[in-house]
Amino acid sequence: MVLIVVAALWGPANVARLFPARAERPMGEGIPPAGVEFAGTRLLPPVHAAPAGSETYGFSMMQTGTDEPVTFDPCRPIHYVTRTAAAGPGGARLVDEAVAQISAATGLKFVNDGLTDEAPSEQRQAFQPERYGQRWAPVLIAWSDESESPGLAGRVAGLGGGRPWRDTHGRLTYVTGTVWLDTPTLMSGVSAGSSNGARGVIMHELGHVLGAAHVTDPAQLMFGGERTPSRGGPSGPLFAGQLGAGDRAGLAALGKGPCAPGV
Ligand SMILES: [Zn+2]
Repeated sequence: MVLIVVAALWGPANVARLFPARAERPMGEGIPPAGVEFAGTRLLPPVHAAPAGSETYGFSMMQTGTDEPVTFDPCRPIHYVTRTAAAGPGGARLVDEAVAQISAATGLKFVNDGLTDEAPSEQRQAFQPERYGQRWAPVLIAWSDESESPGLAGRVAGLGGGRPWRDTHGRLTYVTGTVWLDTPTLMSGVSAGSSNGARGVIMHELGHVLGAAHVTDPAQLMFGGERTPSRGGPSGPLFAGQLGAGDRAGLAALGKGPCAPGV
């Protein structure tokens, strides 16, 4: 009799409490300990953005069967490293400026782990204990060029994407990501007297890392494809390195994901 009562109370919520989500561990792959640097509460206040038209922002990936975007955990910092290569110290400064703006727009805390010599790769491992220790690898922001990264060929000024990881309850959380930057394209603008376009491209690619998708509205930084700064036109947001209202609404939402202690 007692057993029957227990069974009746045995809902999915109780199962979730007794068996909290953990990062899935695919065969042959290592993962870091759960909850490295997890603070129990979000590190920065959420950002309240003005309402914007739904066509002015979008998300790259949704939790299965929902309209809830996949996000980073706001309860721990997002670490990043910069591979400056030919961009030199000026490249690292531009990255820091772009990160500061994206952090302010999302309410996500970023921590600069300095320089790295890691080359960008489509096959990058999310966990690299030899290089980065017992934690998810930091976001890699790599100044590169089309000879190293064929995806940067032609008019492509940058590429970016986040790396989601599935937990044992089927939820996805971004744990790291990569930004590829076309050094000759971006630095030619800097040499010509303005770093706004280069910073705008870095912000756009960081938006992709955090889960922002392209939009068709040319007034947004997330407009269009991976093109040179001039694509937005001389007064376009990418050229100016400015976030539009839709960008702000989308980034604020991407900064409000749930905490993910199990990953
Ligand atoms: Zn893009």
